[in-house]
Amino acid sequence: MTSDPSTIVAHDEDFPGGAVVPPIFQTSLFTFGSYQELEDAMAGRSRRPIYSRGDNPTVQIFEAKVAALEGAAAARAFASGMAAISAAVLSNLRAGERMVCVRHCYPDAWRLFTSILPRFDIQVDFVDGHDAPAVERALPGARVLYLESPTSVVFETQDLPRLGAAARAEGAVSIVDNSWASPIFQRPLEHGVDLVVHSASKYLGGHSDVVAGVVCGRRELIERIDAGVFPLLGGKLAPFEGWLLVRGLRTLPLRMRRHHESALAIAKRLLGHPRVVRVCHPLLGDPGPGVATLAGASGLLSFELDGDQAAIRAFCDALRLFKLGVSWGGHESLAFPVAAGLAQQGANPLAVFGVSPAIIRLHVGLEDRDDLWSDLAQALDRTSD
Ligand SMILES: *Cc1c(COP(=O)(O)O)cnc(C)c1O
Repeated sequence: MTSDPSTIVAHDEDFPGGAVVPPIFQTSLFTFGSYQELEDAMAGRSRRPIYSRGDNPTVQIFEAKVAALEGAAAARAFASGMAAISAAVLSNLRAGERMVCVRHCYPDAWRLFTSILPRFDIQVDFVDGHDAPAVERALPGARVLYLESPTSVVFETQDLPRLGAAARAEGAVSIVDNSWASPIFQRPLEHGVDLVVHSASKYLGGHSDVVAGVVCGRRELIERIDAGVFPLLGGKLAPFEGWLLVRGLRTLPLRMRRHHESALAIAKRLLGHPRVVRVCHPLLGDPGPGVATLAGASGLLSFELDGDQAAIRAFCDALRLFKLGVSWGGHESLAFPVAAGLAQQGANPLAVFGVSPAIIRLHVGLEDRDDLWSDLAQALDRTSD
């Protein structure tokens, strides 16, 4: 089979009756015709699904497609990106061990690493992922290196080939969150990273109608997840969500191209606007260390507004096409002001990492680019009232 992403997402082997869309196997369990068939499945001698907390044929179609897109031998789908992240991390760490993680990782991943892992006596050290020597200095003795390139909110990139090799040299498993670039623009396994995790709620689904996650990698590492934490943590993807994801994937290459073009055009216009202090977009400004492995950019960027809290409020309230909200990766354009994120109670990585409250994150959706720019421009005009 071809490894071209457009063919992977569009092509399937025949489904029953010649259907071009897979059936939704909306069943919790699967039955067997004989004791021998049941025993073969229980012993792992046959790959027949037994129970949908483990395998489900509709979910397996999604897993196979994502594995092919990432160039992975295997993939495991989960009920959320966080379930995928917990499985990837917990299957490779034991009590008393240590993990190194880049700063500015996804906020709930940071909360998992700083509030749940310490209960198992697992220490997590956060490092500046830009600074490869600093990461390498932190690595000796660590069992896991957790990367996210580009990172959340400020989009810092990391040198994946160098850090993947450094982790391997220290006997640590490297994991990268690839939700931002998607396999269309970055294939970390080809650059020596061990495991890729995704929030499939973002680009893989692409329509803002699914919460899901997936882990991809070598068979041995996926088997470690299967044997160790999955299905015992139970965060398995449901068949209908698997079906929606297969549908979403059909247009992933097309959508990513469009997000790339529109967001880059808007980022450049923001950069030239007098009310904008700076723009965070990996392909603009000083190239970060991880730009070499990015074949394109997504629709996600952020910018710092020249103004106080009142100006940020005025900007957000003036937006018409951009909606205010968390998440991203769907058809719709979104704005998320860091200032509102800072209002969240409890330990807050945005504050810990010193993210400026004047930063506003944008997800540039699939609407007309000029319409989107007009919306931003009229909202920026309101900030100087
Ligand atoms: C949203 C997100 C996650 C978490 O995924 P969920 O599907 O919401 O659990 C992880 N990483 C990144 C970069 C994200 O944006």
